[in-house]
Amino acid sequence: MPIYEYQCRECGHDFEILQRLGESAKSLACPQCHRKTLDKQFSTFAGTVAGDGPGAGGNCSPGNMCGPGGFT
Ligand SMILES: [Zn+2]
Repeated sequence: MPIYEYQCRECGHDFEILQRLGESAKSLACPQCHRKTLDKQFSTFAGTVAGDGPGAGGNCSPGNMCGPGGFT
């Protein structure tokens, strides 16, 4: 089950929410100030935007372990 991390734009409070598939984020609100101005952080899966993640080197196939350094 994916855990999403949100940060409130109003008060800067960040928190994690265990969100089920198909459950929309529209009802989410900041537990601190109860506003709905939340930014999704994608801390678990899409954390690597730039740098040396899978896809950057192009040497990783599904099922292989792709460690840093690319030892083959
Ligand atoms: Zn807030």
